[in-house]
Amino acid sequence: MGSLAAIVFATVLLAACQAFEFHHHDYKQMLEVMKKTQADCPSITKLYYLPGRTTEQRQLAVIQFSTNPGKHDPGKPEFKYVGNMHGNEVTGRELLLKLMDDMCQRYKAGDPMVTKLIQMTSIHIMPSMNPDGWEAANDLGPNKDWLTGRANNQDIDLNRNFPDYNRIVYSREAHHIKSMNDLWHHTIANNDKLAPETKMVINWIMQIPFVLSANMHNGDLVANYPYDESRTGASREYTSSPDDDTFRHLAETYADSHATMSKPHAGCEATGDDDFYKQGGITNGAAWYSVAGGMQDFNYLSTNCFEITLELGCIKFPENSALPGEWNDNKKAMYNYMWQTHIGVKGFVMDSNNNPISHAFISVKNVTSGKEVRHNVSSVHDGDYWRLLTDGTYDVTASAPGFESVTHRVEVVNQPMQGAVVQNFTLPAKPSKDQGSKYDAINQIMDVDGDKMMDGKYRQEMEEL
Ligand code: ZN
Repeated sequence: MGSLAAIVFATVLLAACQAFEFHHHDYKQMLEVMKKTQADCPSITKLYYLPGRTTEQRQLAVIQFSTNPGKHDPGKPEFKYVGNMHGNEVTGRELLLKLMDDMCQRYKAGDPMVTKLIQMTSIHIMPSMNPDGWEAANDLGPNKDWLTGRANNQDIDLNRNFPDYNRIVYSREAHHIKSMNDLWHHTIANNDKLAPETKMVINWIMQIPFVLSANMHNGDLVANYPYDESRTGASREYTSSPDDDTFRHLAETYADSHATMSKPHAGCEATGDDDFYKQGGITNGAAWYSVAGGMQDFNYLSTNCFEITLELGCIKFPENSALPGEWNDNKKAMYNYMWQTHIGVKGFVMDSNNNPISHAFISVKNVTSGKEVRHNVSSVHDGDYWRLLTDGTYDVTASAPGFESVTHRVEVVNQPMQGAVVQNFTLPAKPSKDQGSKYDAINQIMDVDGDKMMDGKYRQEMEEL
């Protein structure tokens, strides 16, 4: 019995120490990698599932890396990677499983870069947004085609299924109404068309104050940035967002750090016209082809989150043997991109009694060009905000109802692997005859809104959509 126990113990130990293996992971195997990562690194990870199920009753699983997992630390920015949104585009799913293992193992080994990244950033990784589609594609065996498994089980293309906020924003631009990212209230407009996966992800991105994100696809090799939907309705037309400079920088960061994305390489047979390396491995989404209802533009227009779309290669469902090479080509880019969560300016917006002001608008004017960046971000529950920006001089203004606006001039010099420039704001209450009671009322409104963002109240509204 003694030797049997020893053999059992040795087997268990071997299983626990088993290194990550490159191969396509089905749903069960994917969850096993995620559970093993949490077991290996319990102090810095939390595995969680978005409320709800896919049509085939699968869950959307996420692992969070943070020195305070399960929480939003005031002042600490939140980042996310989403893979496998199109079920038959699978490289991202495997890269993200490898990434979580790599982060955990390197943190345990005391790797200074990974340790610092996790100390400074809350990182959420969803390897598969469309697990049902993955199964449909995988079921084809070696005879995979271009489309099977792309959509979810209801045949909904998830990257065409998000509320189309671009149309509202473009119409506001035409009427010179200042664009504000308060548009989620309008989500209700076309709600009955939302797939369960789309609803779950909308719910998620409304609850966690994400700052930066990328979603991963296959079919070409390029980093694609907003807008995805053209302003005029043209099928191909460069459509810049107010943050074009920042988005180009973000896309370039991934492309330049990738082994081949920005370097001369053969085009993809299926799409035929891959000259993206001639423009540095990046493209404006609508300049390539216009997409309405995409997740990338929705993130930017409905939340504080900047998202780009990564096309990770021509072949949508590569052989197992190609996966180690994919990891080598992408790992530096995946880490460098996560570090971009720390570009620009960040801080807290407080009242004169040092109480946080949530939902304060942060607006930015580029002093060098004299242009206003017509896209606000807002402070979140603890008054914390993050405003991604490229190097330059900016006038940054914080404003909130009932308070005087305050502007600070900020010099942004982004340093590799350093935190964003810190600029805090103290907003004086607007003078009023009945200052005390008005002031209290404002605080109450702020509290209600702040809570709404982070607790179940908002979730309930989304469920009712
Ligand atoms: Zn795709």
